[in-house]
Amino acid sequence: MTLDPALVDALGAFAAHPRVLVATDFDGALAPLVLDPMDSRPVEGGMESLAALADLPGTTVALVSGRALGPLRQLSGAQDPLLLIGSHGAEDSRRPDGLALSEEQRTLLTQLEDALRAVVEQHPGARIEDKPAGRVLHTRGLPPEVSGAALAAATAVGERHTSLVVTPGKEVVELAVAHVGKGVALVALAEELGVDAVLYAGDDVTDEHAFVALAQDTDLARAERRLTIRVGDGESAAQHRVNDERALVRAFEVLLSARAGRSNDGG
Ligand SMILES: [Mg+2]
Repeated sequence: MTLDPALVDALGAFAAHPRVLVATDFDGALAPLVLDPMDSRPVEGGMESLAALADLPGTTVALVSGRALGPLRQLSGAQDPLLLIGSHGAEDSRRPDGLALSEEQRTLLTQLEDALRAVVEQHPGARIEDKPAGRVLHTRGLPPEVSGAALAAATAVGERHTSLVVTPGKEVVELAVAHVGKGVALVALAEELGVDAVLYAGDDVTDEHAFVALAQDTDLARAERRLTIRVGDGESAAQHRVNDERALVRAFEVLLSARAGRSNDGG
């Protein structure tokens, strides 16, 4: 598998920074999109290369996903010291007590649940995923017109309840009662860790927000040392692109070998 030479160069330059954060989305980036979200599995070698990176000095590795923390841990098989950021930044594996929803947010969550059940009744085949701070409507596998109508109905729920945060994706729409956003979560994590550079890879709308947020990081030096990678096609704010999940894993392997070589030199 051949990576774009510009990406290989960027990975080499990134590897030379003393302290780095290597972060990636899970679904559609490390794990191919599948019909049932619970059948999702990382491609071969992906978690292995991330685990090996996380063992290197000055290297923090994080999975950043819209998924709730529990399923993210289960499906990825991630273990310490890998960090897991779930629910678009609302959950963090270092803070296992997790989310604290207000009474108002709990009520809103119940209303959301009822409204989405009605959407599913009218659009059979659509599915609801429970998350700690919201609900997700999935339409993968449905005929395009049914999928489109179901997603529009779910989006309309978000328009009726204006405190809900609506996040559209590929054959999916998420409605959350509490929302941080991947970009805010990533910049905060980079700040907290005090890293010199951040790599982030992803395939979807929420990842695009993260690419933009990293470019606008208030730490300008860090913003200039970012390395952002879009997985798959579509317009993107990322600096680089790979074709698919396997190519992203290849990029992590290139980074691993560049950075392992650097720490062997004692640099
Ligand atoms: Mg994704």
